[in-house]
Parts: sequence; C-alpha cells; structure tokens
Amino acid sequence: MSGPVVTRFAPSPTGFLHIGGARTALFNWIFAKRHGGKFLLRIEDTDRARSTPEATDAILRGLDWLGLDHDGEAISQFERADRHAQVARDLLKKGAAYKCFSTQDDIAAFRDAARAEGRSTMFQSPWRDAPSDTHPDRPYVIRLRTPGEGTTIIRDKVQGDVTIRNDQLDDMVLLRSDGTPVYMLAVVVDDHDMGVTHVIRGDDHLNNAARQMTLYTAMGWDIPVWAHIPLIHGPDGKKLSKRHGALGVEEYQAMGYPASGMRNYLARLGWSHGDDEFFTDEQAREWFDLSGIGKSPARLDFKKLENLSGQHIAQLSDAAVLHDVQEFLHVTEQAALIDAQISGLHKALYCLKDRAKTYPELIEKAHFILTLDPIEMDAKAAKALTPVFRSILRTLTPQLQNVSWTKEALEVIMNRVAADHDTKFGKLAGPLRAALAGRSVTPSVFDMMLVLGQDRTLLRLDEATVDKTDES
Ligand code: GLU
Repeated sequence: MSGPVVTRFAPSPTGFLHIGGARTALFNWIFAKRHGGKFLLRIEDTDRARSTPEATDAILRGLDWLGLDHDGEAISQFERADRHAQVARDLLKKGAAYKCFSTQDDIAAFRDAARAEGRSTMFQSPWRDAPSDTHPDRPYVIRLRTPGEGTTIIRDKVQGDVTIRNDQLDDMVLLRSDGTPVYMLAVVVDDHDMGVTHVIRGDDHLNNAARQMTLYTAMGWDIPVWAHIPLIHGPDGKKLSKRHGALGVEEYQAMGYPASGMRNYLARLGWSHGDDEFFTDEQAREWFDLSGIGKSPARLDFKKLENLSGQHIAQLSDAAVLHDVQEFLHVTEQAALIDAQISGLHKALYCLKDRAKTYPELIEKAHFILTLDPIEMDAKAAKALTPVFRSILRTLTPQLQNVSWTKEALEVIMNRVAADHDTKFGKLAGPLRAALAGRSVTPSVFDMMLVLGQDRTLLRLDEATVDKTDES
C-alpha cells in the first residue's frame, strides 16, 4: 500500500473503555507511530439508544490516561448519517443495490417456509430483480446486491486468508425504511472517507469483514489491510467477564499502575517480539509489526503486569512519577499533596522508585516523608518500639547531634551504638523504622535519615523515645 498509514480506533460509547478496547487502540496507535502515519478516533454512536455522552467521556479519559493521543478531532459517526445514506443511494443508482419492499411479515413467512422445506433461512428478497414498474408505493429498504456466487477472501494479517462463500452472505440492508443507515454501511463509508489504510480490531468483527468487503467492492473503493486480533481472556483462559474483575481501563489507573507500564503490558498481550517482556514506547514503536500478533487469545496475568509496572516506575523521570502520584491521588479521591509533601517526595524518589510495583506501594513507602509531624504509629511499628529499644535509641540522639549528615558517618554511629548495647545494627532497624516512619515497611533507615535531614530525624527520635517514655 502506498501513501501514509492511517489507523483508527472506533469504540461504541456504550460503557467504559474496556481493557480489550484499550489494547485495540494501543495496537493502532503504535502501528501508526511506527509508520509515521496517523491514528484517528471515531466514536461509533449510531446506536442512539445505547450511546451516552458519559461513555464517550469515559473512553476519552481512558485514552488520555494511557497517552494514546489521536490525530485531529474525534469523529462522531452519527453526525455523518447523511453521507452514509447518500452512499446507499449512490449504490442504488449504480444498480449495486436495490429497493426491497418486503415487510417483516413477508420475511418471517419466507423463513417459516424455508425451515419447513429444510432450505437455508437466509432471506432472499423477491425484489432483487423486480423491474421498477412493478414497485409498489410503500416504504422500502435499500439492500446491497451481493454477488451470490463465488467467494470472498479476507486476506487477514493475523488470521491468514479467510474464505467465505458468497452464497452465505445475504443482501444486507443498507438503509432502513425510515431512511437511517445501518452500522455496517457507516463503518465502511467512514473508514473510506477517513482514508483508513489498516483496520486493526477485535476478531469478533471478522464476520463483518466479509460483508464490508462486498460493500468496498460495490463502491469500487480500495480495501484496507485487515488485522483481526484475538480477544483477551481471563487468567483462567475463559472469555473475559466481570468475574475476572478489572474490565475497565480506569480501574487500572485506580490500582496505581503507570500508564507506560500499562502500555507495555497491553502491547505484550497478544503481540510479541522475541522474548522481550519489558520495553519502552520507543522500542515498541521500533518493533511493532502485525506479524508478531498471535492467533490465540492472550490471557490476563496480573503478576506480569505488576512486574512490568515496577520496572516502568523505576525508569520514569522524577517529574513523571510526581505527576502520576498526584493524578493517582486525584482519581482515587484522596487528599492532594501540599507543596511541602511534593518537595519531600521529590527528595525521596531516589530510594522509592525502584522498590515499588505500583503507586499505592510507593506512597506507602513514602509515608515517612508524606506524613506530617508528629507522626502516628501503626500497631506493628508501635510494638517494635519496646522500652528497651527506646532507651537504646535515646542514647543515639546526642551522637547524631554533632555529625556530618552523610550515609557513611551515620553508619559509623549506628554500628557503634549497636555495639555499645551488645547487639547488631540489624536489630535496631525495626525500632528505628518505627521511630522515623511510624511504619515497618519503609526505605532503609539511612535513606530516611538523609531525606528527612538532621532536624526532623532528631525530632522524630525525640518524639518516639523521650516524650512517650516520660508519659508512661
Ligand atoms: N464499534 C465497534 C466496537 O466497538 C468497532 C468497529 C470496528 O472497529 O470496525 O466493537
């Protein structure tokens, strides 16, 4: 195919952005980027009863979070209904379509008779070849005149050649009797008018492709490259459903995965490049090809997602992590960070980024810097701070008052205090974590001290030892 690549994502706005839809969007996005082409967005809102603006918003939000930016304005399929109807009338004029006056009752009677005689129940309109002077004056639909014999071959980049006998394709309705176009016509006309060169979508649309091809042929339009990708299955290998949890892409944002990790994971879900699991957007762009898409359904694997998520958090820039954490707090309706917390977190990122698989995990580990003084201790931490350890920690304070605040110097002091009390530094770590963070899962004691600085470290040691001991 010559000319620039144009792909599109064409969701129906009837609910949230499904994880399968997100992956379809991603494949189209990467493919377009890989070829320096365009990625377009079309909202398939022709089904007025089921389409809602809220669903459109949810889809846009999901795409936005995933960073799948589209070129140009999003197109509303419904708004193009006149154009779709016009194409049906053009086909009628060309003789590639015909007026069918059969009523629902006629069709039902045809089917009953066919069933009784053991014939195919696929409707064959008696109006297909009826001369126009026999046409009655009553409402009609416009049907496509399908070839009837021969075969239609879909040359699919994922499924291979899929051959369909034309006698199995009915003369589909293009325009209903109320003048509204059908969905199948809308898709073809829109893809053509938008200049779509590659249609990458779920294989639940493979059947539609055969009918859509007859329409392309009837109009004399170029047929796009098709790639029908297998659906995503749950971890148990069964079709993805509510019982597997987390169907909407926004739920993944709320679970605290970074968008880049999610892109990596979704790209791997059904597509592979050798044994590579972790890759950046740039690598995906360089490597992505339709031939790397597998034919069998991919399974969701949360362990793998977590793993990739952690690797992505580790290699994101500080600015990106700070941005993501704040977004995460916002979408999960948690309190926003104040400036002091943001700058504290920024300082701490060096010892947090490579140890968290998700943002909630990172936030939990950042508790020591995000919490405001005086800190509150959770039950486990409080237990670690026994009277014996409190008194040991109390001897630490004067030594920390006159020391250069470096990891090496702090290490020397800690080891000395431990030795003075016939113990090892490792034994002091738990009580120290408790004193400095009020938690038991934290970055290393030294990192916390460096990030907190001398004054806050001493303040917390004081709080955790002197004050409480005096009260008891
Ligand atoms: N609107 C269809 C869907 O949401 C997609 C149609 C297409 O990609 O051709 O499943």
